[in-house]
Amino acid sequence: MKKELQVYDNILQLVGDTPLIQLQKMTEDISGTFYAKVEAFNPGHSAKDRVAHFILSQAEEKGLLQPGDTIVETTSGNTGFSIAMVSAVKGYKCILAVSDKSSKDKIDMLRAMGAEVHVCPANVAADDPRSYYEVAKRIHLETPGSIYINQYFNELNIDAHYHSTGPEIWKQTEGKITHLVACSGTGGTISGTARYLKEMNPEIKILGIDAYGSVLKKYHETRQFDENEGLGKNLIPTATDFDAIDEFVKVTDESAAQMARTIAKEEGLFVGYTSGAAMQGVKQYALQGQFTKDSKVVVLFPDHGSRYMAKIYNDQWMEDQGFELHENLK
Ligand code: PMP
Repeated sequence: MKKELQVYDNILQLVGDTPLIQLQKMTEDISGTFYAKVEAFNPGHSAKDRVAHFILSQAEEKGLLQPGDTIVETTSGNTGFSIAMVSAVKGYKCILAVSDKSSKDKIDMLRAMGAEVHVCPANVAADDPRSYYEVAKRIHLETPGSIYINQYFNELNIDAHYHSTGPEIWKQTEGKITHLVACSGTGGTISGTARYLKEMNPEIKILGIDAYGSVLKKYHETRQFDENEGLGKNLIPTATDFDAIDEFVKVTDESAAQMARTIAKEEGLFVGYTSGAAMQGVKQYALQGQFTKDSKVVVLFPDHGSRYMAKIYNDQWMEDQGFELHENLK
C-alpha cells in the first residue's frame, strides 16, 4: 500500500491522522491483535500537537485571539513544544514558564521554536510567586489578550482527543476495536478518546496506565485523594474523566524504560518513555486475562524516542537509575 503524496499549505495540516501500526514480535505470546497508534508521526512528534492546535483554533473561532497575541503555559515537555510550533505558524507569541529541572536541550528546543522561556526554581511551593505556576499566571494577568492553556484543568484538552484521536481509531479499526490502552498525565488523551469510543460502542474497555507514586489509580477506585502518596502526580487533573476509564494498572519506571528499548529493537519503532509504559501495561493486562484471541487492542504511543536520548536511551542513565540492562537491550 502506497502513501499518498500531497502538498500542504503549512505544517499544521499534518497534525493528527497518525498511523495505526500492527505490533508483530512483541505481542506474539499474547492472545489478540495489537496495534500501536503512533503519535510520533505528528509534525511536533507527539500527541500534544492535537491539543495545541485544537485549543488555539477554538480560541480563534471564539474571537479570543488576535494576531500577535500571547499564549502562556507551564511546561517544558511536549505540550510546550507543540504550543511553540502552532504559535510560530499562526503568528502568536509563546511564553513558557518551566522548572529549572528541565534539561538544557529541552529549553533549547523550545527557544528554537521561537518560545520565550522563563526558567523558575523547582524547589519552591506551587503558590510561591517564583513557582512556574505563579509566574505563568502573573504573565497571563499582566499581558492583555493572552491565553493561559492550563492543560491539566482545561476541558478543551479532552475535546481535542474526542474530536480527533477517538474518531481516527474508530475509523482505522473499522469499529472493531475492543480495548484501548493509554497512559494518563493530564488525562486528556485517554478521556477524550474514551468518550468518543464509548459513545460508538459502550463495550469498548478503556485501560489506563499509572506510575508508582502517582495518585490516579487510587483516586479512580475510591474518589479519595491520597495526599501521602504524591511522589509522582500529586494532583487530580480535571482534564481526566475518571468515569470514562474502566481500570488502571501501575507500571514501574524500570519496566517502562526497558520496554521502550525493546519496542525499538523488535518493532523498529523509536518511541518515548510512556510508550514503553503503555506496552508494559499491555503485558500486565494480558497476564490478568483481559484479552482473548478476538481482541483488537489499540495501544497509544504518545511521543518519539529522540526526546529521551539523555534518559532511557542512554546506558549510563539507565545504570544511574539502577535499571537493569539485559543483554538484549544493549
Ligand atoms: N506521554 C507523554 C510523553 C506525555 O508528554 C504526556 C503528556 N504530559 C502523556 C503521555 C500523557 O498524556 P495526557 O496528558 O493526555 O494524559
